Amino acid sequence: MARFEENCEILESNELGRYLVARRDLARGQQILVEQPIVIGPYWDSKIRCLNCFRSSCTICRKCKRAPLCFDCTTHQETECDFYLNSGLNINFLFDHFNVVTPVRCLLLASSNRAKFDEMMSMEAHTNERRDTDIWHAHETKVVRPLLDSKAFEKMNDPSVTSELIQQICGFFDVNSFEIRGNMDDVQQVESLVRGLYTKAALMAHNCVSNTLISVDGQANLRLYTTVPVKKGEMLLYNYTRSLFGTVERRTHLKLGKYFVCTCRRCEDPTELGTHLSSVKCTGCDGGLCSYYATEDKWLCNTCTKELEKTYVNNVLSDARKDAMQCANDIHELERIITKHSKTLHPNNSILLELKQTLAGEIRNRCLMSPPSKVPEQLLERKFHLCQEMLSILRVLEPGISRLTGIALYEYNVALWDLARKKFETKVISAKELLEELSKAEGGLKESISMLLFEHPSTPEGQLTKRAMHDLKDLREEMKQVKVIVPEIQKE
Ligand SMILES: [Zn+2]
Ligand SMILES: [Zn+2]
Ligand SMILES: [Zn+2]
Ligand SMILES: [Zn+2]
Repeated sequence: MARFEENCEILESNELGRYLVARRDLARGQQILVEQPIVIGPYWDSKIRCLNCFRSSCTICRKCKRAPLCFDCTTHQETECDFYLNSGLNINFLFDHFNVVTPVRCLLLASSNRAKFDEMMSMEAHTNERRDTDIWHAHETKVVRPLLDSKAFEKMNDPSVTSELIQQICGFFDVNSFEIRGNMDDVQQVESLVRGLYTKAALMAHNCVSNTLISVDGQANLRLYTTVPVKKGEMLLYNYTRSLFGTVERRTHLKLGKYFVCTCRRCEDPTELGTHLSSVKCTGCDGGLCSYYATEDKWLCNTCTKELEKTYVNNVLSDARKDAMQCANDIHELERIITKHSKTLHPNNSILLELKQTLAGEIRNRCLMSPPSKVPEQLLERKFHLCQEMLSILRVLEPGISRLTGIALYEYNVALWDLARKKFETKVISAKELLEELSKAEGGLKESISMLLFEHPSTPEGQLTKRAMHDLKDLREEMKQVKVIVPEIQKE
């Protein structure tokens, strides 16, 4: 942990609570922290999983006779096993109340590892804001009542387990946990099923434009990196919501899940740093864009003086949302909906952006299914422009190293490569021009790999890294062959 202390300092303020700042100048891509979780456990309402590895369960532990396990696992954590063995719980208890698994793990820390328990208790649970909300009642029904009614902890002579403490623990997970995306053993994907409590990483304050990246490997080790250079004394920031959400969605998500209203630079800027992720087209002039000015509570045009009626904007947005929700994953259908709503929304509006991402994915699938020569040039051209559009937004919203930028760069450069090859085959460009395009794609793929290298090999992005490296090798091979037919370059 020495590295953490060398890199970071924990400060405290009334507004932010505890937060992290850089203790020294940090370079882009620098590892700031490697952390093991205090507790890992399945998400709420997860299917029944093996308590040891989180894969599908098909048997139970032979010792405690209660914990679900898979074929490969014969034991699970000893304290947990002993607890279920001695708790007097009904034999089916965990199958009926699987949601208690994670909170029980936290509660057991009180006796098995007091230091960890105390560390967990120092986290923020927002108990007062959560009291009597829907999530509070859900935890009451699915976790608190079953556990307390079972009297399991009473039988273990632990009277300190109260409904208040269990709610607080549920809060720690809801507010602070990070998703563990790598599978646990590189054999089978356990994506999005598990989350962990990392007390140090969770100290980072939120910002809708972050300067850090988190990657969690198959052993649940969390690694934190800077995505841009961070100067000594600057805050280390993490984006706890999605960067491609518009401001209203981001703020709602943060308010409901993290209990605060974000006032970052991006949230306060009606144009969202010029990306216009929430803007709609002006009805009063040609080319004008209307954005929401929270201070005036108005939708105003950036070109003419027009103010858009709120009901109009709400209708336009809800129509688009409805169509987007119902739209089939079909290239023609997606194009139709995008064209329809591009008449009223800014091309970067988050609703259109999501549709365009789906479209790019569909085109990609189409390209994977047929040999490059069979894919219409128009389609490649479209994918190329969609990726280009996405990249220009991501460069602003996720500056520096970014998982999404890495993926978009990969897709963009593969499209560039496919297009160049096609244009050369149809004699639209010369061999020399082909080589220039290929060398652009080479640079782009290299940049993509440099961003995706942070991903654990078992995650989908980690798989993509492998493919990108493979593609880069193929591309270089192709460049060699083209060089043979370009005499002037051969001489150089
Ligand atoms: Zn297992
Ligand atoms: Zn057991
Ligand atoms: Zn914000
Ligand atoms: Zn206007």
